[in-house]
Amino acid sequence: MPIDATLPYDDSNIFARILRGEIPSKKVYEDEFALAFHDISPAAPIHILVIPKGPYVSWDDFSARGADAEIAGFVRAIGKVARDNGLVAPGYRLLANTGGHGGQEVPHLHVHLFGGRALGPMLAR
Ligand code: AMP
Repeated sequence: MPIDATLPYDDSNIFARILRGEIPSKKVYEDEFALAFHDISPAAPIHILVIPKGPYVSWDDFSARGADAEIAGFVRAIGKVARDNGLVAPGYRLLANTGGHGGQEVPHLHVHLFGGRALGPMLAR
């Protein structure tokens, strides 16, 4: 069920729990601003999620409230994860579902990195 991305941040969401170490994840990368881990239900041969460490519901929330250093750190972490996982030369897809029409299910900002095969059309028509 997609979330309402206008709601305040809920500390009990699954990615907040991963950040607190309460539930495990298959970590790919971590720094001061970001954590990256494998999606539990991969939709492509490579499917990595990258999340900011701060409490942001969505891309909208982060772009409005995030500090410049957090935004720069998050964007650089995404680029590094893509490079380190060999995604740049063959190409990949970067996606941030946001709110109801975006189909966002977890109310902590995350971007999906998909790769490892040709990914086909961007959206089903
Ligand atoms: P979204 O629809 O953009 O909110 O995507 C949420 C993603 O989180 C889905 O691709 C899920 O498979 C993934 N997911 C949910 N729980 C976990 C978890 N515990 N560890 C890793 N990925 C998860």
